[in-house]
Amino acid sequence: MKVTQVNVYAKRLAMTAGYNMSSAAVGDPETTVVKILTDTSHVGWGEICPTGPLPQVEHAQSIQADLGLLGPALIGVDPERIGLVHDAMTAIMDGGHGARSAIDIACWDLLGKAHNRRICDLLGGARMDPVSTYHVIPIGTPETSAQLAETLQAEGHTKLQLKSGGRHVDEDIDAIHAVARVTRPGVDLFVDCNRGWTVSETLLVSQACRDLKLVIEQPCATYAECATARKHLHHPLILDESATDLATIARAISSGVADGFGMKLTRIGGISGMRAIRDLCHATNTPTSCDDSWGGDIIAAACVHVGSTFHPHLSRGAWISDPYQAKHYDDLHGPRIVNGTIAVPPGPGLGITIPDGYFGSPIASYA
Ligand SMILES: [Mg+2]
Repeated sequence: MKVTQVNVYAKRLAMTAGYNMSSAAVGDPETTVVKILTDTSHVGWGEICPTGPLPQVEHAQSIQADLGLLGPALIGVDPERIGLVHDAMTAIMDGGHGARSAIDIACWDLLGKAHNRRICDLLGGARMDPVSTYHVIPIGTPETSAQLAETLQAEGHTKLQLKSGGRHVDEDIDAIHAVARVTRPGVDLFVDCNRGWTVSETLLVSQACRDLKLVIEQPCATYAECATARKHLHHPLILDESATDLATIARAISSGVADGFGMKLTRIGGISGMRAIRDLCHATNTPTSCDDSWGGDIIAAACVHVGSTFHPHLSRGAWISDPYQAKHYDDLHGPRIVNGTIAVPPGPGLGITIPDGYFGSPIASYA
């Protein structure tokens, strides 16, 4: 199989609702979609959709510029030899991990379709189907936060991620206590600050909540600050935004800085990168989520396929933006959250079908 054409599409995703993080809000983000055509009848789809300044450094325009360099380099390459695809991309540019991740996802989609296998099967098989997920509780008052926590648990959710930061730390402490009071046995509570606290604020929160069962996620802006805070915390620490690549993740595990990770597929090289992190985390008994920052059915299916191959005990869940999306690309098999879980799409590759012309005309095409 050879790549004959790479099309790039841009689409603003209509949302039914959004949420606030410590220093940014999600709102109608623009997704970038990659369609790889080949000299066979197979077509592969990839996607990346940053939400803004959090939780990744790239944005739609930078990704589309990167694809302008990477797209031409893919023509004539065998997309089934994904390691060689990455070599071809590395020969063109350093960085650009978002664009490269979207291409990686499209190649896995092609590989699955060419061999009539689901991506999760190519990755070793689904250990969970349906896959557990976690649900965000946006920054709010103690009352609204606790109310949503109760609603989500009644719907079947067993993993809650309470957003925090961007306000006086006492307000965060009150909201954490309110949610912890209603969190049922068997339900995991993660407090995700998205880099919003200083080291001292992190220690104040952990001290004020020391008797509560919770995990603190990415409290501070940098790896160094999180490492400093980690020494004095009463709670486990998870890195997200600071877990930028496999080498950093390996260091965070071996040095005891991180007790787990919130991982974004398109930050670390797509499905191939997440597979490596999965295996490292399995080898070191480190819990990890399998997410992306935002996006439609393509990125959601990629997260669900990889996430299904995690050992359940080490999975913090596969997150998708389904609860906030006004529309699916694939009305039948676009991944959806039901009773706090997500079924793996049944078809080969990503298992989703994009209707002809769904994304309109490409904004760029390389052949
Ligand atoms: Mg996070």
